[in-house]
Parts: sequence; structure tokens; C-alpha cells
Amino acid sequence: MSLQKKVRVRFAPSPTGGLHLGGVRTALFNYLFARHHEGDFILRIEDTDQTRFVEVAEEYITECLEWCGIKVDESPLKPGKYGPYRQSERKPSYRKYAEQLIKDGYAYYAFDTAEELAERRVNEPNFRYSHENRMSLRNSLSLSEEETAKLLAEGHAHTIRIKVPEGELVVFDDMIRERVSFETNLVDDKVLLKADGMPTYHLAVVVDDHAMEISHVFRGEEWLPSAPVHILLWKYLGWEQEMPEWAHLPLILKPDGNGKLSKRDGDRLGFPVYAMNWKDAKTQELTKGFREMGFLPEAFVNMLAVLGWNDGTDQEIFSMKELIAKFSVDRINKAGAKFDFEKAKWFNHEWIKKTNNTNLLPEIKMVLADHDIRNNDEDYLDKVLSLVKERMVFVEDFWGQASFFFHTPESYDIDAVKPKWNENKTRFFQNLITDLHEVGVWDAVTIEELFKKKVTESGMKVGELMMPYRIMLVGGKFGPDVFKITELLGREEVVLRINRALVHF
Ligand code: GLU
Repeated sequence: MSLQKKVRVRFAPSPTGGLHLGGVRTALFNYLFARHHEGDFILRIEDTDQTRFVEVAEEYITECLEWCGIKVDESPLKPGKYGPYRQSERKPSYRKYAEQLIKDGYAYYAFDTAEELAERRVNEPNFRYSHENRMSLRNSLSLSEEETAKLLAEGHAHTIRIKVPEGELVVFDDMIRERVSFETNLVDDKVLLKADGMPTYHLAVVVDDHAMEISHVFRGEEWLPSAPVHILLWKYLGWEQEMPEWAHLPLILKPDGNGKLSKRDGDRLGFPVYAMNWKDAKTQELTKGFREMGFLPEAFVNMLAVLGWNDGTDQEIFSMKELIAKFSVDRINKAGAKFDFEKAKWFNHEWIKKTNNTNLLPEIKMVLADHDIRNNDEDYLDKVLSLVKERMVFVEDFWGQASFFFHTPESYDIDAVKPKWNENKTRFFQNLITDLHEVGVWDAVTIEELFKKKVTESGMKVGELMMPYRIMLVGGKFGPDVFKITELLGREEVVLRINRALVHF
């Protein structure tokens, strides 16, 4: 890998819908590489396919990058000196290159109509417009110069296609896959400029990567088959010396490793595949996102980074800062990475534990607000959070783990304790109430000592009384240390809860 020139990389999504996690990983790897080498990270919107264009997709992409903490240096909203950053706005810049390719013998006008080509495809299911059949089709290679000039002068709809050479080998070095080669005989004459004057992806991507001085291209492996066309174009346009270095990232695979992870796998197996919720404007179908499912951006980014990359040690938890410092292309795997939702949840759990409470409190307040609880006692929230953090996989789990800190239980899970309940136990708790009124220092240690001393005096066992006590305070058989709960709830509330619960036992 040569780093002679300034590193400039781009994330170049087509605004067609929600962002698949593979797309975000591509953005992330571009970003990490750029930051590691103190280069620029560019967002370019590849919106030349108007049939697939979706209005709000660009906004979604921007919001998604922001949520992940991926900071762009140049983009449609933050133009630098290489703009515009939407390909549709660069439309006038492409035709001249297509024309130049024709002039130099590397491309040609094709006048075949969509219907003609569709008919050909019906008759020949494996039809590909290529060196094998281009002379039998209607284009400036098969027609005479006069006929071509006439058709053009009469304004006949036409496309411009690359003339892929016969019997050559396109060879290039990929930073991940090393030497890659393609036989040109297997590559078709791709359209470069469409009948509406818009470039196709193939022409636009090369022209723009050149114009924007892109130094390295990181993109998904699904673009590998397009690479020979791009490499030929770099050469034919006379830009071979400026060609970026290539890195085709391994696929993110289904959990069982059988093929590329798709949105449908997520629906089928019950996990998100998109970064954030996406609503299809036409069908109104909602596709769930990691963000809305309760993933912290730090966990999402960490999980994505290690899907196909490692730092050579066993370390799995990385902050963005560490990723930037440690990222290296050499440690990107060649093989596809299986997506494992349980592992993704583990990352979130680890990040919840790692994130300091102050940073989590805004989200915690939102969870409480969803349950109509407005509590701005930050000191209390902080203490509760510290007690239940260990048990949370998602921020939403705060409610399941800690709701009893915000309201008295409405029901009691007493089926297991009820048959063993007796007068002695009722008396024990009545006496406990009296003693709790007199406790001087209201803290977990003091109350635990008191509780245990009283159990010994009563002749019963700690085990027989601890669970009922927990159920009285919590409503169920779960939660953190019961004496810490006691301390936080405070004397008045604890006494109230024991009194209330005793009626049910
Ligand atoms: N517009 C392509 C996409 O949607 C970009 C591929 C590339 O990076 O060359 O992914």
C-alpha cells in the first residue's frame, strides 16, 4: 500500500432506502482509514439512478453517520472544494468523458431500444452485450459512420457503452484480496451514459473518484465484478497513474454462514439489519433499526468494526478513538464474517456497563418517560442505574430491571413462598418494621446486619426470609442486592411496602 498522496476516501451510497449494516461498516472502515492516516472522509451521494431514488434516504444516511460518530469532512451539506457532492448535480460533467472514450476508440454509441434488447433477452436467456455480439446490434461499430451521424443528428435515443476488449486480462492488486484478475471475455459492454444523459454508476464512479482525488476505495465485495470495468476506464481515460488503491471488503454473512446477510434474514430471525428504523414510503413497511432497538452507537460501531477486522490480539472492546489508532488494512479478513446477534447484544451490554451514568441518564429518562414517570432526581437515578447496569442488555431493560424503584409493586410473585408462609414469618416482618423505624444510619450494611441478627434471634433461617423480603420490595424474585434496594428506597417507602405486602402473604 502506498501512501505517497494525501489520503482521501469516500463513502458513496446510493440513496435508495435504509442503510444495511454492511453499508455502515463500509463507511466506518473508510472513516477509520482516513482518520488513521490523517486524511479526508468524503460522503458522495450516488443518485444517478432516478428510478431507485428515494427522497429521504440522503437525510437518513447523514443522520446515521452522525449517530455512529462518523464525522464527514466533505459532503453535500458540508461542501469542500471538490463539489458538488451529489452525482445528479454533476450531470453535465460526465458526457464529455463518454464522448472522449468514443473518440479514442474505447466506447461506442448504441441505438438499440430497450424493447429490442428485451426481445433479445427473451430469445437468448444468457444474452450479454459484448464483443461476441456487438456487431450484430445497432451501434456505431456495426453501423456506418454516415448512418451513425444521421441517427445522432436526428436525435435518436442512444446510450454510450464501453468497448470491453476481447481476450485480455485485467489484473490489479487489492489491499485485502491481493492480486485479482479478470478475463475481459467474461465482462460485458456496460452502459456508461444512459439515454437520458445521466451517467451510469460505472462512469460516474470513475470520473468522480478522479475529480475528487480519491486515493483509496473501500467498498463491499459485491462491487468486485465491476472492478475490471472501472480499471479499464481509469486506463482508457488516461488516468492510470492516479488510480486509487482498491480494497473490497468481505461480505457480512447470514448467521449460518450461508450467503450474504439480507434484510429478509433479519425479519425472519428477529433482529435488525438496518442501522436505524426505515419506513418505506410506498408500502409503509417499517424495518427495525439497531438504534431504535436500543443499541448504543458505541456498541454498534464496535460490533461492526470487529466484523471482519481484529487488532491481532484477543481484545474485542474498542472505542472509536482506539479503532482509529489501531485500524490497519492488513488485519481485515479475506473471508466473510458471520453476523451473530447474540454477540451484538453482548457488545451492547459491555458498552452499557462501560458508559458512565451521566452519559446514559438522558436515555434513561426517556425510558422512564415512556412509562409516564418523570424523575429528575439525578442523584437517585445515578444510584439506581449503578445497581442495575450489570443486568441491562438494552437501555430499555432499565424499566424491567428497575421499575420498582419508581413505584410500589402492584402484584407479588408469591406462589413459591406462600405455601411455606406462617405466623412466625408475619411476626418477623412486623417486628422488623418496628426496628427499621429505629435504625440510626440508614444504609445497606447496617440494615443487613440488623436483618440477619433478627433472623438468628427468631430461630429461622436467612434463606427463608430473604426471598419474601425481596418480593415485598420488588414484587418479584429478581433485582440487585436487597439491602442496597432497601437503602435506596428509604425508610418510609420500605416500611410502606412491607405493610402493604403482608396483606397478600
Ligand atoms: N453507489 C455504490 C453503492 O451504492 C458505491 C459503490 C462504490 O463504492 O464504488 O454502494
